[in-house]
Amino acid sequence: IYHSLRPPLPLPPPSQPFSIFSYTLSLLHSPTTPTSAALSTTAFLIDAATGDRLTYSAFLHKVNSLSSSLKSLLSKNDVAFVLSPPSLHIPILYFSLLSLGAAVSPSNPLSSPTELAHQIQLSKPAVAFSTSALAHKLPPNLPVVLLDSPEFLSMLEPTLASSGGGGGGGGNPHSAAVDQSDSVAILYSSGTTGKVKGVVLTHRNLVAVIGGFYHHKFSGDGGKAAAEEEVYIHPVSLFTLPLFHVFGFFMLIKAAAMGETVVLMEKFDFVKMLEAVERHRVTYIPVAPPLVVALAKSDLVDKYDLSSLQILGCGGAPLGKEVSERFKAKFPNVEIYQGYGLTESAGGVARMVGPEEAKVHGSAGPLSENMEAKIVDPASGESLPPGQRGELWLRGPAIMKGYAGDSAATAATLDSEGWLKTGDLCYFDSNGFLFIVDRLKELIKYKGYQVPPAELEHLLQSMPEIADAAVIPYPDEEAGQIPMAYIVRKPGSTISATQIMDFIAKQVAPYKKIRRLAFVESIPKSPAGKILRRELVNIALSTTTSS
Ligand code: AMP
Repeated sequence: IYHSLRPPLPLPPPSQPFSIFSYTLSLLHSPTTPTSAALSTTAFLIDAATGDRLTYSAFLHKVNSLSSSLKSLLSKNDVAFVLSPPSLHIPILYFSLLSLGAAVSPSNPLSSPTELAHQIQLSKPAVAFSTSALAHKLPPNLPVVLLDSPEFLSMLEPTLASSGGGGGGGGNPHSAAVDQSDSVAILYSSGTTGKVKGVVLTHRNLVAVIGGFYHHKFSGDGGKAAAEEEVYIHPVSLFTLPLFHVFGFFMLIKAAAMGETVVLMEKFDFVKMLEAVERHRVTYIPVAPPLVVALAKSDLVDKYDLSSLQILGCGGAPLGKEVSERFKAKFPNVEIYQGYGLTESAGGVARMVGPEEAKVHGSAGPLSENMEAKIVDPASGESLPPGQRGELWLRGPAIMKGYAGDSAATAATLDSEGWLKTGDLCYFDSNGFLFIVDRLKELIKYKGYQVPPAELEHLLQSMPEIADAAVIPYPDEEAGQIPMAYIVRKPGSTISATQIMDFIAKQVAPYKKIRRLAFVESIPKSPAGKILRRELVNIALSTTTSS
């Protein structure tokens, strides 16, 4: 067993009621947080497009007001579905829901109505929050609050009742007492196999992840050393990350706990991102690898003053060595800190801190606070020593409670001792740095977005002219991977690749489109009937190199 080498983070006893909402506020107000004395002037949120900004004090007042209004709509432990592009309203909504002890279940605004219906069936929300442009995609029986309606906007304005005498935005008079094992979020992931599932995260999961970041930076001896090592003290982060994905979700709460400034982009646009870095003197951008590729390759970057930029926090998919070298050649003063995590681990469970660790090229960093890991030989089930490759198993306070309403999928992923089987092929070096070598699981990642092959295979198999189908990841420099389909046509069928790709494109979110297709006589399968994806990937790669 590999144990985290970071100083352990003391967590409250599991039975003690403790919420991520009050924890975040207590960290934000703590004297060790550099901006804690200036919450009425420090911007928490800035809208990149409009320049609108909300100070921490204004933000907390709006959270209080909204909590007061939402109390009549939602009870503790209810699930709230969120379908919206990022806006300044989303963090206010998330924090209000957290304060009430409700679980947040955000979905990708690009999801199709069928995808949304499946997610809603899993998470069973009491209410949804959406926008007038997107709400039509939701099932008609679900009550919806429109985030762009006058009613919602009025809920953000303080009333006598909402201020509750708390004053100053310090505490939240509406905040509910929750157990650490209560659900805080249900996020969607296909895990290692099959269809999309609802990942249930708890208050304790987020307390562990966010507490880890905070303590490493600001507390204790280790923390002090780390704080001095950090290149910057008050980050201005630019979020190009979706707030519905675990990466954006926990980074947003982490930013609030640390008193950071977050610049939000409603819609990703490369040029607007560069403009925002220049205009708001952005120091930090959490990114997925395709953005590092774009920054390393684009000549547009020379047109902007990006000198404020100090760190890219990169995760979500593998970052190629050539890409990071190319990036470093162009931006010698910007460090790339890599991290690794899954939806099922509530965020980053391995990450780099400080320029020394960032020098370990190709690694995702050491294990985060309080985490344990094993590298398991997929064939023998034995634990392997440093340097040897096997499946990464993780255990610790950041690991999910399970998949919503799916005990079979939970049991297949989390064993009885609490180990999460990640489906990633990894090794540790002798210094405790984690290296992600490959993905053993089915999952395809297109620009950091999850594309579950099983979902596309079901759709393909529903086509009358298709006898069999398999979907695999095909390497792509820009996107990381693209979904590629292998198709066996029914005898006599002349259906074309374009017809098939169009059929799929109409039914799935754009990032799940099949972008490459080949016809074959049969799909290679194991004796048990499992698609031999590895074999197909090898066929795909060998046909490209030989053609
Ligand atoms: P998600 O649940 O969408 O966050 O996807 C988690 C998966 O993304 C992991 O199991 C890995 O396969 C992949 N992943 C995340 N971070 C990294 C990383 N730093 N390097 C390589 N793969 C990563």
